Amino acid sequence: MRERFWEQYPLDELTTEEWEALCDGCGQCCLLKYQDDETGELAVLGVACELLDIRSCRCSDYENRLSRVPDCTRLTPARIEEFRWLPRSCAYRRVAEGRKLAAWHPLVSGDPERVHRKGVSVRSFAVSHKDVPDEQLEDHIIAILPIDG
Ligand code: SF4
Ligand code: SF4
Repeated sequence: MRERFWEQYPLDELTTEEWEALCDGCGQCCLLKYQDDETGELAVLGVACELLDIRSCRCSDYENRLSRVPDCTRLTPARIEEFRWLPRSCAYRRVAEGRKLAAWHPLVSGDPERVHRKGVSVRSFAVSHKDVPDEQLEDHIIAILPIDG
């Protein structure tokens, strides 16, 4: 990977390896969400997709995720503007908005555990969808977020 590529190149010029390395491993995008069609507001649950390994905050079947989980979406440079539901901490959103990566990002700190120690990741609170019946999901809403234009 090129040195400090995230500061030197736009998202659509990153190699596949660089693009994947940009993910900070927080797992926040793998929390279940409901969108209100009328208000656009997004309810975020403390329940993670059934494929998320909550300990590592990584997808347990990344290669096959799109076929196994219909709601999973592939983040690409061309679609970054559509992904307004990504957390402000997300490295892709930061770079797309011209912001710096956080000091806890693995590419900056060299320590992939720091995102967890800082409490940015979902490791400390998320439960797996495998352990929550659908009728109880509403009890697990942790935030209502406006989706700004
Ligand atoms: S929110 Fe962004 S940085 Fe965090 S896991 Fe998802 S894609 Fe990676
Ligand atoms: S399939 Fe994998 S990448 Fe997609 S939402 Fe689930 S855990 Fe996240």
